[in-house]
Amino acid sequence: MADTNSKPRYRRILLKLSGEALMGEGKYGINSATLTRIASEVKEIVASGVQVAIVIGGGNIFRGVAGATEGMDRASADYMGMLATVINGLALQDALEKQGVFTRVQSAIKMEQIAEPYIRRRAVRHLEKGRVVIFAGGTGNPYFTTDTAAALRAAEMHCDALFKGTQVDGVYSADPRKVADARRYEQLTYLDVLANDLGVMDAAAISLARENGLPIVIFNIHAPGAFAAVIRGEGRFTRIIEPQ
Ligand code: UDP
Repeated sequence: MADTNSKPRYRRILLKLSGEALMGEGKYGINSATLTRIASEVKEIVASGVQVAIVIGGGNIFRGVAGATEGMDRASADYMGMLATVINGLALQDALEKQGVFTRVQSAIKMEQIAEPYIRRRAVRHLEKGRVVIFAGGTGNPYFTTDTAAALRAAEMHCDALFKGTQVDGVYSADPRKVADARRYEQLTYLDVLANDLGVMDAAAISLARENGLPIVIFNIHAPGAFAAVIRGEGRFTRIIEPQ
């Protein structure tokens, strides 16, 4: 067993939270109990001395692809999706600040009354001061996803790893909620994920992480305490790395 009081393994990390992570048991929007619990998990990591940046998704409110399927122009629909991530970002900021965690929201799309514009050096400075920086607005460009935004911001912030909090505790050979003998992978390479189309993150995000040697850790954000455990290298997760 690793010593829980030992120095954290990471100096700076990026947490990717999908919009769905905020829904709890609901089918849409934000569940305040879920939001509060996620905020408390983040607080624990910050308290342990790890610098935390967060990229938040918007799928609990609006997805561009869904809008385009219903006949909207894809780019317009994607901008709506980016706005949804700002709503989630503000909700997460509120939940964190209620628990005494200092935060800043930076948006890839300027909205100066409610969020700072994205400025890389300023974001780094916030992290150095122990503030949680929530990146909203994705990459600021249509046709991208917040997974790609997560890989991009993690590379820009020189994060040690990208943690993706999902509904399950790693990457499986099949959907573990549907297939009883689905196997969880302990470790995969970026190419395994791309070649087998494992769908854990989109290909642009995986490629960007690969080019920048950014390890990705997939874990279950809904299991209480799991985030702190995976940060310590314990518990259940899948690591995606370059083969040694
Ligand atoms: N989006 C975009 N560009 C980006 C990031 C997001 O256009 O760089 C839009 C896209 O329409 C997407 C929506 O925002 O469907 C919500 O983001 P995402 O689906 O990645 O959220 P998540 O699945 O993580 O909740």
